Amino acid sequence: MFKSKKKIIIFIVVFVIVLGLVSFLSVQLLTPKFKTSNFNGVVSKVYNDDLEFNDVCYGNAFSCKNVKPEIIGDYDINNVGVYEVEYVFEYKGHTFKKNGVLNVVDNEKPVITKSDEDIHVCPNNGKILEGNITASDSYDGDISNKLSFNYDRSTNKLFVSVSDSSGNKKDEFYDVVASDQVPPVITINGDSTISIKNGSEYSDLGASAIDNCDGEVEVSVHNPVNAKKNGTYEVIYTAKDSFDNVSEVKRTVKVYSSSTSSGGNSYSCEGKIKYSCGGSGKVIYLTFDDGPSGYTNKLLDVLKQYNVKATFFITGNGSDDVIRREYNEGHTVALHSYTHNYGQIYASMDAYFADLERINDRVERITGHRSNIVRFPGGSSNTVSKKSKCIMTALAHELTNRGYVYYDWNISSGDAGGTTSTDQVYLNVVNRLGNGKYVVLQHDSKGYSVNAVDRIIQYGLSNGYTFEKLESNSMTCHHGTAN
Ligand SMILES: [Zn+2]
Repeated sequence: MFKSKKKIIIFIVVFVIVLGLVSFLSVQLLTPKFKTSNFNGVVSKVYNDDLEFNDVCYGNAFSCKNVKPEIIGDYDINNVGVYEVEYVFEYKGHTFKKNGVLNVVDNEKPVITKSDEDIHVCPNNGKILEGNITASDSYDGDISNKLSFNYDRSTNKLFVSVSDSSGNKKDEFYDVVASDQVPPVITINGDSTISIKNGSEYSDLGASAIDNCDGEVEVSVHNPVNAKKNGTYEVIYTAKDSFDNVSEVKRTVKVYSSSTSSGGNSYSCEGKIKYSCGGSGKVIYLTFDDGPSGYTNKLLDVLKQYNVKATFFITGNGSDDVIRREYNEGHTVALHSYTHNYGQIYASMDAYFADLERINDRVERITGHRSNIVRFPGGSSNTVSKKSKCIMTALAHELTNRGYVYYDWNISSGDAGGTTSTDQVYLNVVNRLGNGKYVVLQHDSKGYSVNAVDRIIQYGLSNGYTFEKLESNSMTCHHGTAN
């Protein structure tokens, strides 16, 4: 009896435990709830694609329904980036929320496209000469400018690769044709036809050459010009690239005697100009003729150091860059003469204005503006023009009629005459200074003259002068015409 009573108790205890276990398990297995298998709040998705999402479901052990989240936050599905968002899952009135991160990613490789025609490349460096290769990316668009090329001479293949902004890389290679039959292109400095007077000096302005494969290549010059012998000469420039393609350009140089060219036209001597130059007020106008030259940059450095503005009466010589610098640093870029060839420019009024137009074209090409400020070669009082009788008087009036203003000078530094010393140039200038306005004539083609400018400025500044550049309404400064 005791024995069976004990059995009953054991049975009851076991029964209760089993009953508890079963009801516990059935609650666990059958009660519906949100279940997250892998979801840790971080979702990566390809921009612009639908979101695939299988990581959260609602249900019990026997059936669980996938629930897509609503993503709440400030994110842009079209823009690659990392966004902080909130994932909200809702199912039949039940809600589950989780803060997390949304990575919008681009994992598509770019596409490289070759045009239909054969690709021709430079044999030395693989630079594409014909045909074209482009790259585009579904996210970045056209990324042709990110293409890199690598030409393998031994296999005659061009290896091409490109990466998009997310680092997806695409490689391709193509069989190419490697040959270069295009010669360098030669550009001569200055004019292709030049006339010079017998006995003057001919210095060739040279040329440069660019090749499609080699870049800049050397130009060899054959210069037969004999400036002491009349005739028509051809200066020949040749350039060769590394595949023996040769090009050649010629410049014609005519050497003539002054007797055959200086005009001898005569003009009315009525209304000779009388000397008038100056004013009151302790002002110095530094003016420089005949440049630009190799000394002009140094001069510009000095002017810049003292913030002094000056006036440059330029010629057809020298570098465009120096003229551009003169202009950009606030100086007056004015007209002297393209050729500075007295016989040529004073042969006739037409010849003078043809030369003036030419130098003004240069000024306009470099600065974007034409100038109406002029200085006559030799000054308006020159007599080098005397073969054309009274031409200076006629030109002075005609210039004014045409809207130009011309300036002579009232202090000559002497640098065009006998003076070749910097000290003497300095003294010639400062010894003439008084209480008026002074237009100082110097030549930036003369190094010893340029070297005096620093001291001239120091003297002027410490003695109460101001430095100004000439403008079209500065004071009158005319010499008397002598022809
Ligand atoms: Zn001059």
